[in-house]
Amino acid sequence: MSSKSWKQSMKNRRYDPHKHCIVCGRAVPMEQDFCSTECKDGYGKADKSKNKKNTIQFVLIAVVMVVMIIVLPYLTG
Ligand SMILES: [Zn+2]
Repeated sequence: MSSKSWKQSMKNRRYDPHKHCIVCGRAVPMEQDFCSTECKDGYGKADKSKNKKNTIQFVLIAVVMVVMIIVLPYLTG
């Protein structure tokens, strides 16, 4: 794959209606969201790990709040 020819094709297609791959940002046809199955798979994984991260954050916040509620009365006397 030559980067020069890729740039040239990008320049020629610049004003064609297109979207960008929502994972890597490469130009893709209007009817597609991803440039490749790799990006499609990667997006699904990223979404899942993001949800997991949100769950962990929620649990951490809940734990901190519970600890605060338990510990604060002791600290303030
Ligand atoms: Zn992509």
